[in-house]
Amino acid sequence: MQLNTITELLDIPNYKVTHVIHNDGNSLHFIVEQIERLPPLCSGCGRVHAGGIHSVWMNLIEDLPISGKRVFLHVPRRKVHCLEDDTIRVEEIPWLRKRFSLRFAKQVYRLTAITTNQEAGWYLGLDDETVYRIDKCMLETLAREKLDSLVAPTMMSVDEVSWQKRHKYVTNVIDIEKRKVIWNHNGRGKVVLDKFYRKLGSDGCANIQAVASDGARGFLSSTKTFAKNALIVLDHFHVKKYLNDALDTVRKEELHKARKENNDELCKILHCNQRFILMKSAKGKKKQDLLGKLATLNERVYQAMLLKEQFLSVYAAKDRQTAQTTLKDWIVAAMKSKISAFVELGNKFFRKRHFILNYFICNITTAISEGINNKIKRLSRMAYGFKDVYYFLLKIHQHCGMLNPRIST
Ligand SMILES: [Zn+2]
Repeated sequence: MQLNTITELLDIPNYKVTHVIHNDGNSLHFIVEQIERLPPLCSGCGRVHAGGIHSVWMNLIEDLPISGKRVFLHVPRRKVHCLEDDTIRVEEIPWLRKRFSLRFAKQVYRLTAITTNQEAGWYLGLDDETVYRIDKCMLETLAREKLDSLVAPTMMSVDEVSWQKRHKYVTNVIDIEKRKVIWNHNGRGKVVLDKFYRKLGSDGCANIQAVASDGARGFLSSTKTFAKNALIVLDHFHVKKYLNDALDTVRKEELHKARKENNDELCKILHCNQRFILMKSAKGKKKQDLLGKLATLNERVYQAMLLKEQFLSVYAAKDRQTAQTTLKDWIVAAMKSKISAFVELGNKFFRKRHFILNYFICNITTAISEGINNKIKRLSRMAYGFKDVYYFLLKIHQHCGMLNPRIST
């Protein structure tokens, strides 16, 4: 192939291919050089230094593949004597990012936005460390462009997610209408959410009509302080999670007892494998059989399951008034159950009853925040391999927030 044809194919402004140095089944190696020799741009001060070139060396760059072959460019790169701080600096080449072309880095970032770093690495033939470095570099650049400005949401939800063992958390704020994470930060509680509201400013805070959350004290008090107009709603899916957690506590307690008493039949029903059948609110035959067995075998778990099912009628209510009555009845039943996990939950729901019932005033579609939270949880499982929390925050934005190439911003 003629050199100028390859030059046209590569299409890098002011660069031409001068030699093909290697061409085998897997890769292509080209030497490229500037067409018009321009003075180097200093990577330290960002200025053009006409004189004072210190040295030149060949930089090996990976570019986008051609016909299934990996493409490597050998690019002469100059070191310059920076007049600003009297040090030797590498020249800045705008279409390069370290050992890759910018368009190659963009491709990595687009892939890592839809799959795991490991899978993207496998597809491109890069190791994990390289994918991490390119991905992080791209995300940091985009973050500088896109994360600084913040538009106040009208309906938002806030949630925390753990990203490492030993209770390390990050907090995410979701714009429910835009269906994406608009802000996130390391840590949780009042101090962290305060930062979000401060960044919005008083006008932005005044714009917020509703805030959904898990009802954690820190989030509540922060919202009450800054977003005074906002209606606080206890997230529908968090309520369901509290119910499931309570049921699971009872299941574990009874499983523990059954094991001590060598009650094999009960152990089998209460074992983890059956857990999902117990949790599901579907009315399948399998579940009905299980319920029937449980009713005779273990009164407490049976009762806990009924309490959980009963709660669904609160959300099935047509209006706030009906919901209020149903909720009140449920709280009384939970308190009377003498099952500690449900007595506790009854107390909790009593304290937070207004926030539960606010759902009937402002019908926040929590399906969006639930979907995003599930995505983040999946990311956080992968995050055990993440090196730092800052990168995890950027990954959340990449997959469901401001840095996602598929959601327009
Ligand atoms: Zn300089």
